[in-house]
Amino acid sequence: MDNITALGGDVYEIDTRMAGFSGITAGYLILGDRPCLVETGTSTSAPVVRDALTSLGVGPRDLATVVVTHIHLDHAGGVGDIAGFYPEAEIVVHEKGARHLADPSRLMASARMVWGDRMDTLFGELAPTEASRIRALGDTGAIDLGNGRTLSSHYSPGHAKHHVGLIDSGTGDLYVGDAAGVYLPQTGDLRPATPPPDFDLRTALDSIALFQALGPQRLLFSHYGPVTDVQETLERSAEELRVWVDLTRQAHSEGMDLDHAVAMVRDRTRERYAALKADDATAEQFELLSGAPSNVAGIMHWLDRVQP
Ligand SMILES: [Zn+2]
Repeated sequence: MDNITALGGDVYEIDTRMAGFSGITAGYLILGDRPCLVETGTSTSAPVVRDALTSLGVGPRDLATVVVTHIHLDHAGGVGDIAGFYPEAEIVVHEKGARHLADPSRLMASARMVWGDRMDTLFGELAPTEASRIRALGDTGAIDLGNGRTLSSHYSPGHAKHHVGLIDSGTGDLYVGDAAGVYLPQTGDLRPATPPPDFDLRTALDSIALFQALGPQRLLFSHYGPVTDVQETLERSAEELRVWVDLTRQAHSEGMDLDHAVAMVRDRTRERYAALKADDATAEQFELLSGAPSNVAGIMHWLDRVQP
């Protein structure tokens, strides 16, 4: 299938075709004795992901584990559907996200407030998962991939308070979720992902430092794809955070409202990103999941908490 890319080490990148777009949200299959899906994509992507797993030889009773880096709907919106397709799979998530997978009503209500009418086309509805099938992770945890291979989780808040990074003992791959920002392979652009309500600069930088300390061989971005220039990329992740926070802090201290702050930050950061100078489709792809309005709103929300 043309939405599957073999990355080596029995790891397969699956384009979940979020909202019909290509190259926006990836899921990953680690194929071995105990096949593990990292990130489900959205609910509307679940049939696409199932077809990909089928073509890779993973049948309904074969999938051992589904793990999500965090419970934002572009990463975990399909958990309930995927859990239904694969009745043997254990669902693994950080403890701060577990109850929302069992009872998504509050998560869906707040997502609906943020996204409004775009909710159904972008994400669809997160279906509940039986609580007995969910395993909650603490600060660290481990997933058995079979044959002595392990996927270890590391709590990495900042982008979201229920975020974990996952490192594969077999390959040194680190699944970074959104904690290192959003990477666009077509242009090599990297931009932070600092949405409300959880964004916190100190914990976000600490999580990037933790990722550096883990010494990964490769980063696998949910948005989007593999990066082998590990240390340089993580340094860039931290730098991007500082740039956006400094500019937003300036707008905040001048008393700008959100719309003016977004316009100012967008204008002052435009030159940093080739994607925004490329064609409209590439710019739209880049804006969709880490758009300036969401990033600036998240930083403003954090500033209101730490320096009202
Ligand atoms: Zn996220």
